[in-house]
This record gives sequence, C-alpha cells and structure tokens, in this order.
Amino acid sequence: MKNLICCVCRKTVFSSLTSMSFSVWEKKGQKLERLEKKYELIECKFCGHVMCEGDYSEEAFNLLYSRDYQDDTIASRPSIYRDIATFNLPYLLSLKKLKIADFGGSSGDFVIVLSKNERHKLDFNCSNICVYDFRLTTEKARGVTFHEINLNNISETFCLNSIREFNYAFCIHTLEHLVDPREFLTTLYDISSDKEFYLYIEVPANELLSISQLASLVCPQHKHYFTLTNLVKMCTDIGYELIRTELVETEGVPRIKCLVHKNAVAAPRTRIVNYLHDREQRIKKTTDLIIKSSSTLITGLWGIGNELYEMMKRFPDIYELAKNSNIFLIDKNLAGTTYLDIPIYSPKEKVGTVENIIIMPKEAQTIKAIETDAVKLGYTQETIINPYINNQGEM
Ligand SMILES: [Zn+2]
Repeated sequence: MKNLICCVCRKTVFSSLTSMSFSVWEKKGQKLERLEKKYELIECKFCGHVMCEGDYSEEAFNLLYSRDYQDDTIASRPSIYRDIATFNLPYLLSLKKLKIADFGGSSGDFVIVLSKNERHKLDFNCSNICVYDFRLTTEKARGVTFHEINLNNISETFCLNSIREFNYAFCIHTLEHLVDPREFLTTLYDISSDKEFYLYIEVPANELLSISQLASLVCPQHKHYFTLTNLVKMCTDIGYELIRTELVETEGVPRIKCLVHKNAVAAPRTRIVNYLHDREQRIKKTTDLIIKSSSTLITGLWGIGNELYEMMKRFPDIYELAKNSNIFLIDKNLAGTTYLDIPIYSPKEKVGTVENIIIMPKEAQTIKAIETDAVKLGYTQETIINPYINNQGEM
C-alpha cells in the first residue's frame, strides 16, 4: 500500500478489509493455465472510503477488461437511462447551446435515449454529442461522435486533444472503474473552456448495497466504492458546486445520482485545493525525473532544503540512490556537511563529474540564482533542469 492516497480525503492510512482474486485463462499452445491476480479491499481510516488495491497497470487493465468483458447492468435497464434524462432535463434546458460529452458512454446507449426521448424539448446540435471511452464499439449512433481515449490518463496530451468543448458532461457508472477518479474530475474541471458546465455523475450506492448485490458489485473492476457523502466531498473539494443528489434503487441497481456544476465563483478556494494537489503531483514528478535521470546520467541535486527533505520522507528510493552515490547532493552553503550520512558537495567540485543538475528549491529567485551560478562554473545550459517549469507557470 505504498504511496497510496485516498481520492476523497487525500490521507494515506488504510486498513485492510479482505482480499480478492481475479483469474483468467491463459492459452499456452493447447494448454490452459489459470492466470491469477490478487487484489485487496481497503478502507481509508479517516473518511471510510473503500477501494480495491492491486495491479491496475495498463496490462492488468486489459486483463480485467478483456474483449469479452461486458457490463450491461445499466444498459439492460432502459428505465435507468430514462430516469437520468428526466433528472437532468431542467438543467439541460437551461443552456442555450448544448455541447454534450459522455465519458464512459460505451456505444452511446445513454445519449441515444436522451436524444430520442427529449428531442422535442431539446434543441440538439448533433455535432456536439461526443462519447469518450476506453474502446470504440462497433455499433455507432447517428449524430454522435466517438473518441477512444484512456480515461485513466485524460491529462495526457493525446486525450486532451481529443476532447471537444462541452458544457454538459455525463459520467454514468464509470467513475468507480477509474484508477484515480479525483484526477479525472479535476482534469475535466480544468480543461473546460466554458466558464461553467454541468456534470452528472452516477455510481453504485454503497449505502444501499444488499448482500445479494455484493457478488456482482464487489470485484476488482470496481476500484472505488463511493457513498453519497464521500462522492460529494470529493467533488466539492475539487471545486464543483453541488446542484442535486438522490439515492435510489432502480430495478435492483443501487444508485447515487449526483449533479454538480463548475462554479467560477468558487475559484479562489479551488485554486488553493488544486495548488495543494499540484504540489503533491510535482513532488512525485520530480522524484520520477530524478530516478530516470540517474539511471543513465550522473545526476546532482542542487539546493538542499525543504523540497529534498519532503521528497526523501515520501520516497525512500531517493535516499537509497543518494546513499549509493547514484545521485549527488550539491549545495553552496552546506558543502562539507552530511545529511543522514550522505555527503553534500560544493557545486564547484562536481563540475566535470555531474552530467545532469536538477534544481531542488522552488522559489523563482533561488532557481534563477542557481542557474546563473551553474553556468558561471561551467555547467552547460542543457544539463541544468528546472523541474518546475511547464507546470502551469506556477513555481
Ligand atoms: Zn479518505
């Protein structure tokens, strides 16, 4: 459970509830072998959010969602789609020009129901109904465009470029499958060019689960198990304004219905929350950068202060690399001392040895000073890396 963060409260302490296994047949010539993967159901000690932990790499995802995997729990119950359409109608009508996006919309079943049932009330601009999902299905609905994107990584450039403008988004029984639902919702919040948009989220309701439903709802494909309280907490933490929620069971499906709104007025608070989230992401990204750089080049970390301290606390790999002299710690003022028995060198004595300099302090002024010093000492510009640039210009 290393480096695991709760998507609801951002805390990192979990308790184990039970273990689960998932297995598929693997064909080796004519022989069948059973390939098994273990998953663990864990609970956040602070907010009680339950999630499934284990291998959720892209490779594992392909196993969990093999070509024949089909979850038609919702699609086979048209009354659910009709209910979602009715629930959203007043808000859909409040927008002059609708630009609809359905994230995880499969073959477009929901948007078809919506456009058929409410066509007379809604003035649809068909070019603006988009469905985004992991895989394109063969059935295609008229007037709907389909885009294959990795919903687990929508902040990736390829995905961002595929996402068209939207002012009404749906995410129906999809969020519980994603590795990081918080990152997904945050990206949606950030990328929309419209100042405001509505987002309808529906996930299985844990508080309504009965024992008989557990068999089909508790499985490694469902990574997250939301309650209404926790779903709302996550959304409002990101910056969404809550519009309307409902807990209901329809044809045996326990549902959390939740409509949120991107609210420009809440921006100042959102900025702080996002900043804190970004900070965590940045530490992680810098760590990855250091590990990658040190695998091929002699790498120096310049500026030994709080950033490095925080990084070493979270990621023992950095400490190990420094201890084994795979990376060097460099600091003008602390040269000659040691931290946790790791020697700190002066920038001057590592000229010619260190092939990559990664700047650690995050203050703009300090970064500038380090860059100037480094060039003066003879380090070339290309070898000096500032990990904080390209991060929305924020230091
Ligand atoms: Zn939590």
